Amino acid sequence: MIPVVSKLPQTGTTIFTIMSALANEVGAINLSQGFPDYDCSPELIELVNKAMKDGHNQYAPMAGVMSLREKIAEKTEKLYGAVYNPDTEITITAGGTQAIFTAISAVIHPNDEVIIFEPAFDCYAPAIKLMGGVVKSLALEPPNYRIAWDMVKRLINHKTKMIILNSPQNPTSTILHRQDIEELSAIVKNQDILILSDEVYEHLIYDGETHHSMARYPELQQRSFIVASFGKPFHATGWKVGYCMAPEHLMTEFRKIHQFLVFAVNTPIQYAIAEYLKNEDTYLGLRDFFQQKRDYFRKGLEQTRFELLPCYGSYFQSVRYSNITDEKDADFAIRMAKENGVASIPVSAFYTKGIDHHVLRFCFAKRQETLDKAVDRLLKV
Ligand code: GLN
Repeated sequence: MIPVVSKLPQTGTTIFTIMSALANEVGAINLSQGFPDYDCSPELIELVNKAMKDGHNQYAPMAGVMSLREKIAEKTEKLYGAVYNPDTEITITAGGTQAIFTAISAVIHPNDEVIIFEPAFDCYAPAIKLMGGVVKSLALEPPNYRIAWDMVKRLINHKTKMIILNSPQNPTSTILHRQDIEELSAIVKNQDILILSDEVYEHLIYDGETHHSMARYPELQQRSFIVASFGKPFHATGWKVGYCMAPEHLMTEFRKIHQFLVFAVNTPIQYAIAEYLKNEDTYLGLRDFFQQKRDYFRKGLEQTRFELLPCYGSYFQSVRYSNITDEKDADFAIRMAKENGVASIPVSAFYTKGIDHHVLRFCFAKRQETLDKAVDRLLKV
């Protein structure tokens, strides 16, 4: 065997793969990895079919099908006010994760520091480390996981290159508020700090709250890579199509990596989504659709021994279980999948130091009968 020196010695298999595999193995209801258990719109499938039959089966342009980039530019301007040039400032990616990796690898050099807020989606830190960057994580605490901006200020120095934001946040279901934007703006003002804003849950935000996209604030937008996804809004996580928007000088660097990482993303789905986006109800209706699911699931959980944490956005509901056991969250999640038949994600997996607040994350993008069945089982925990 030829020895290799691992580039990510501390990194194992992502928790999503582990918990979904366990759920399948033991036949548990899978509320772990975030994906719906119902199908996407038949109309969207028809549109993909049509694009294939119309002969859109060869390489898309490297940056993506132009009609899709134009639709994204229109949608962004309408919702958030920012004008992006589809030719030079928008790139279609193979999902949000590829966009995040590409943005980080495009701008992070060895010893550059990147601030992340934990619990954080698990692809940020490995990408930073692979580029030789240094992860500066700020650990947030339940139940509210609010960012203490004075702590952020203390982390900033001449090596700080980027701050990664995620709102609505996975896994905590929190959102950035107007006050966070003000604090952030004051901190980055006159500093050469980029922002990577993971906004894949932009349309899944509840109780009439506003999505504070970086695209709303010109001084933030100018320094931001904004990442979004079609998998979440269109219930098609398996299609792996998302996008990145950034000012031209950033997007130029992004595309240098993108072209050699994936070159281009599958063509027919891009045509189909461009068509589908013409009807804005396809994404504006999601707030009600998922808020109903959230409320339904929370109501069910209220009868259990789990303690509900707030959920402002995303399709995740986190719970504390201190009333039930003092097991580690990973041990408890595994035992619950095996013994009670419900799979969840232990939130310690989203802290680089494995901090365990005894919190589990459930995905509620599920059919009502799935949620009913899951609640029935959780009542016995
Ligand atoms: N975003 C999804 C989640 O948080 C899954 C992503 C993945 O499996 N890589 O569960």
